[in-house]
Amino acid sequence: MSGTHTSGGVVWLGSPAFPEAARSAVADTRLRTNLRKATGTIRDKRVAAAAELDDWEELRTAAAAIKRATLRHLDHHLLRLEESVTAVGGTVHWAADAAEANRIVTRLVRATGETEVVKVKSMATQEIGLNEALAAAGITAYETDLAELIVQLDDDRPSHILVPAIHRGRAEIREIFRERMGEWGKPAPEGLTDDPRQLAEAARSHLREKFLNTKVAVSGANFAAADTGTVAVVESEGNGRMCLTLPETLITVMGIEKVLPSFADLEVFLQLLPRSSTGERMNPYTSMWTGTVPGDGPRAFHLVLLDNGRTATLRDTVGRQTLGCIRCSACLNVCPVYERTGGHAYGSPYPGPIGAVLTPQLAGVERAASLPFASTLCGACYDACPVKIDIPEVLVHLRARAVDAARGGSLPTPESLAMKAAALTLATPRRLSFAQRAGALGSRLLARRGVLRRLPGPLHRWSDTRDTPAPPRETFRAWWRRTRPENQ
Ligand code: SF4
Repeated sequence: MSGTHTSGGVVWLGSPAFPEAARSAVADTRLRTNLRKATGTIRDKRVAAAAELDDWEELRTAAAAIKRATLRHLDHHLLRLEESVTAVGGTVHWAADAAEANRIVTRLVRATGETEVVKVKSMATQEIGLNEALAAAGITAYETDLAELIVQLDDDRPSHILVPAIHRGRAEIREIFRERMGEWGKPAPEGLTDDPRQLAEAARSHLREKFLNTKVAVSGANFAAADTGTVAVVESEGNGRMCLTLPETLITVMGIEKVLPSFADLEVFLQLLPRSSTGERMNPYTSMWTGTVPGDGPRAFHLVLLDNGRTATLRDTVGRQTLGCIRCSACLNVCPVYERTGGHAYGSPYPGPIGAVLTPQLAGVERAASLPFASTLCGACYDACPVKIDIPEVLVHLRARAVDAARGGSLPTPESLAMKAAALTLATPRRLSFAQRAGALGSRLLARRGVLRRLPGPLHRWSDTRDTPAPPRETFRAWWRRTRPENQ
């Protein structure tokens, strides 16, 4: 895979725009098979896990309310979090953008004298391109989440929030392990098959030495409670637990929107998150830490609070609901577009419906203008979202912003001309009636079996791929006049 691109605060946007990237993705039948199988399985499990709770809808409503209220007073909760973390022995750093966050983490690692770090899967560090920034400073970051490890060994990019290697099948993973594991750490065992247990065991022994010897860890955070300064990471494999407890220094990079007012709020989110993401009642490992404790766990704890476009997102009264996302990936698994294109087509660490609304807001709509259009607006994402983010509403809102941004001061686009013509036509009944008669005439000339063969000019791009019903030969008004002469 080609090198990482950084555009604005979010990495990878140098990739082709969505329509182009999606075209090659949908032509990859193996990718589509892998995606269909994986998303279908997780989707069914999620529905069953949610159905077990009588108060599922109430939990969703509570989560949405907590997130909305927190975002309204985000500054207050963040200052409170800083106070609480400092009081329990941690150090809080504020990063306005990706470059500043990378500088802070690099400085902190350098201060330890170490040149290696182990990492727990973290979307925020992918967003800022931390691994690349550390590499440029001579520090190697080792991903320890199984899927992240696969992606890293393959010089690839994650394509799903929860299952970053969802685009790889088991046989492909075995080949990656056999070819690349020996480059650092323990190589893949002889005779490794594609049995999931064998693959997991190979990864476990490959990583063990890193866990035991590396003195610095970098993590993300799912939640942080402002009242106690407690930070929480939710994961399935136990690699997070190792990273969060064994090293001497722990550096956590967290988007500022992850703060919750109180520890008690976790009760709501820890019920919603595992059921929405893996379809489990409870995730296998929930690690929580509150500062540092002598003789137990890391001796130094640093919390880097990352803005990187979030404050700007907060200013948008429609778009700000996106910041309530808890990265469960339920919206990806139900999205018909994601299921066919996979995550790479979105050109960002945030794929699927949430990526289509989050990336343009974090990176700037003009840099990711095609993403809000990467949706059928079917609304499945809204139904699945545990925090009730109205993704279709934000998509439509961002489409308008993308169109406005593209228009700028330049010539009007064909689309805006068409909209102006429609507005002019619909302004008076006489104009509408004239347009309907013209349409009926055109229909007689161009239609075959009620379908227009090919629309003229650039409109042919519509009729080339869809049936375009011909306008009726008789308008409703004409039919009314003909059949109800008494009403004239
Ligand atoms: S937008 Fe909702 S469904 Fe999608 S990842 Fe975020 S919380 Fe989950």
